[in-house]
Parts: sequence; structure tokens; C-alpha cells
Amino acid sequence: MTSAEKQKIAFFLDITGDFLGSGYRSARKEYQFEDDTFSSAEIRQTPEITSDSTGQIASEIRLCNSCPLGKTRTNAAPGEGVQKPLVMIIGEGPGQEEDNQGRPFVGKAGQLLDKMLASINLSRKVNCFIANVVKCRPPNNRDPSLEETTACGHFLKRQIVCLKPEIILAAGRVAAQTLLKTTEPIGRLRGKFTDYSIENMTIPLLVTYHPAALLRNEDLKRPAWEDLKLLRSRLENHDGEK
Ligand code: URA
Repeated sequence: MTSAEKQKIAFFLDITGDFLGSGYRSARKEYQFEDDTFSSAEIRQTPEITSDSTGQIASEIRLCNSCPLGKTRTNAAPGEGVQKPLVMIIGEGPGQEEDNQGRPFVGKAGQLLDKMLASINLSRKVNCFIANVVKCRPPNNRDPSLEETTACGHFLKRQIVCLKPEIILAAGRVAAQTLLKTTEPIGRLRGKFTDYSIENMTIPLLVTYHPAALLRNEDLKRPAWEDLKLLRSRLENHDGEK
């Protein structure tokens, strides 16, 4: 409080005292006040309330130009699905159709992914969220570079923290290796649950083949189906625990 503010309060108290006592104004007293001073440590900042949301993250993604993919994309595809999903599916990055529409997994591989999910009662409309490691299309569908996955990484992390999925399904080598920070081949990563830790959460993560790989190589369909069955049994156990 400043010395002037203190003077005003003292003046008011004196007048009130006079009025309640004799009813007459007494001689005005002089007070010596000083301005309060606080060290910077004593100045209490109002804590900032930050509540991130997938909508906010999506708006930032659509404006992002932090890596070269921002220059070549038509539309960023931030991700879509429900809040608090049972399963968050994470792929590699948008392809041509995703780039046209600004939505993840809407091309041929996406249609197969939707069918695979439907076979175990999952869907982006009801209980899943679908996103990618990078949100903008790498030209000619090349793998995203380390620079690109790193630049985009904070968006994916914020999405995971915001959504708090029960389970993460990493679709394909790029998603698996990026999330698990490893260069192990996908054949060794798939087919088992691994703990994925982020902030103060640990989320079970399952790696499976990318649907585009299944379209190219029929032999991968059987192990991918085994992965889906594993996911389904985990979800059933999870339901039983509730
Ligand atoms: N492949 C991906 O990894 N993600 C998409 O969104 C589409 C194809």
C-alpha cells in the first residue's frame, strides 16, 4: 500500500472516531507513513490457469510452420476422435488424401484401419482418437525426418496428456520407433504391451503393423490380427476391472 493510501484510511478512521465520540472534528493529526516495499520473492504471482485442449492444439497445428513440412502441406491433419478415448491410435503422418482433407487416416490405409478397429468394437466416432507422429504430409509419402518428428513432437505429447487414453496403439515402424525412442525393428516391437511414460502417467502401448504395410504385404495380416486380439483381450480385462 502507498503512503497516500494509508493517509486516506487514517483520515477516515479519525473522522469516524470524532463523529462517534464527541461529534466534533478534533485537530487533524499528522502521521508519517511509508510506501510498502516487497522483494520480488514476496510478490505473489497469481498462478496461471492453463487448461490445454485438443481444439487449442489443433488450431496451433494448423498455423504451424516450424519445420519444412509446413511449406509443402495443403492441410495439416491434427487428429480426430473422442475425448478420453479407450484407444489412441498413432500413425506416421498424413498421406495425399489426408493432406487434401485435413483429417487423419482417410485414404485406403485409413479405410482398412477403420475396418480393423471395427472388428474389435473400436471406432473414431465412439471410443478412439486417431493422430499421427507428424501432422503435415511428408512429400511423396517419404518417412518424416528426425528434424520433423522432433519439431512436431510437442503437439503429440500435448494430445496424449490432454486425451489420457487408456491404451496407445502405435501403427507402424515410424510411430513405434518415435514413441519408444528406439531403432529396434518393428518385428521385435510389435505384439506386446510396453509401458509408455509421459508426465505422471504410464500408458500401456501396443505396436502393430501399419495398415498400409498390410495392403502391400498379405503375410503381415495374420500377425496384425494377433495384435488386435491382444488389444481386444486387454480391453475386455479393463472393462472387467471397472
Ligand atoms: N498413414 C498414416 O500414418 N497416417 C495417416 O493419417 C494416413 C496414412
